[in-house]
Amino acid sequence: VEKWDSVPLAPADPIYKLTYAYKDDTYPQKVNLGVGAYRDDNSKPWVLPVVKKATDILLNDPALDHEYLPITGLPDFTNAAARLILGPDSPALLEGRVSSVQTISGTGANHLGGLFLSRFYRWDEGTPRVAYLSDPTWVNHFQIFRGVGIPPETYPYYDPATIGLAFDKYLAFLKSAPPRSVFVIHACAHNPTGVDPTREQWLQIAEVVLERGHYVFFDSAYQGFASGDLDADAWAVREFVKRGVPLLICQSFAKNAGLYGERVGALHIVSPSSEAAVRVKSQLAILTRSEISSPPAYGARVMALIMNNAELFEEWKRDIKTMAERIITMRKELRRLLTEELKTPGNWDHIVKQIGMFSFTGITTEQSLALTEKAHVYLTTNGRISMAGLNSHNVRYFAECLDKVVR
Ligand code: PLP
Repeated sequence: VEKWDSVPLAPADPIYKLTYAYKDDTYPQKVNLGVGAYRDDNSKPWVLPVVKKATDILLNDPALDHEYLPITGLPDFTNAAARLILGPDSPALLEGRVSSVQTISGTGANHLGGLFLSRFYRWDEGTPRVAYLSDPTWVNHFQIFRGVGIPPETYPYYDPATIGLAFDKYLAFLKSAPPRSVFVIHACAHNPTGVDPTREQWLQIAEVVLERGHYVFFDSAYQGFASGDLDADAWAVREFVKRGVPLLICQSFAKNAGLYGERVGALHIVSPSSEAAVRVKSQLAILTRSEISSPPAYGARVMALIMNNAELFEEWKRDIKTMAERIITMRKELRRLLTEELKTPGNWDHIVKQIGMFSFTGITTEQSLALTEKAHVYLTTNGRISMAGLNSHNVRYFAECLDKVVR
């Protein structure tokens, strides 16, 4: 009998571990700032009203069946998803140069995109088989790329001294990396820092990427969540496509539609010609077939309904604004409490400058641990807080605890 003696015990996932520790804590004022999921002002998960509406339509449709979707997904979903990120008048779309396939949310898109590059990217000719990831990044990127046989390395991104972008170092790295290197870049609302390039900086990045012939692996997990506006958050991606940067996009509907468990996502690979796009898509179909055979139908049907119906689409945009604005309000309130009321030492402007679900507070590992141990505030030890975990009832408690640990 195989006793698996040689299988080492793997460490628990740090984020899930945090969530379980929070659940087990009986302290009434406990706060969970670890989780990367939206919560309403009462710390509850929020079912978007537009999703509720679309679900009702779907479930009352007498023609609804439970057949397999095509291998590459529901066309009404993948086409609308491509228009959402690239823009309805995207030249790449109009010219048929985009291969879109449905994936298991953003994670599956990252995996499929990585797998495709692993098989088909031309790594020879002096381009190392490496995926350059921002330092820091969503930790799952490391194991995803390792898993598909593209060893990850990091490029400079975050500057602890300014709690902002290490732009000069980032740009210098792009310039010195071997030609045609693969760069994984967060499309907006960088996780975990909440620090994004400015538009001016994005254009400089695009210029160097083009000059060096690099490949951009865009990870778009927060479209609409950053600014509250789907188009504004797609600006960098659209600008890169317009300039002819070779790229692909991983797209998730987990955050912007609150469909975390449904695993709704897509991978879009932009090619220089429609002929290439057909070939690329044929290979994505083969890869998908061997891994999941065909993607899940439910969430894709919900999103297809929302994106293809003008009225529902407008309602979705309002729901996204509701989420983004609540988070922005919390950023302002936290900064106000720290700087104006508590006179907490240090500058806290970065809290309102950062964007999206997360804020990098700039506190140390020891301070982060002290918040958890002394104040029952759960956060990752890198000082990252999920803004969605703050609300009008707990923001003052958190500000006071933070004030105490940094003094
Ligand atoms: N990429 C980034 C940067 C993320 O932060 C996340 C989720 O936290 C994902 C991708 C993928 O999420 P999902 O698979 O739930 O769509």
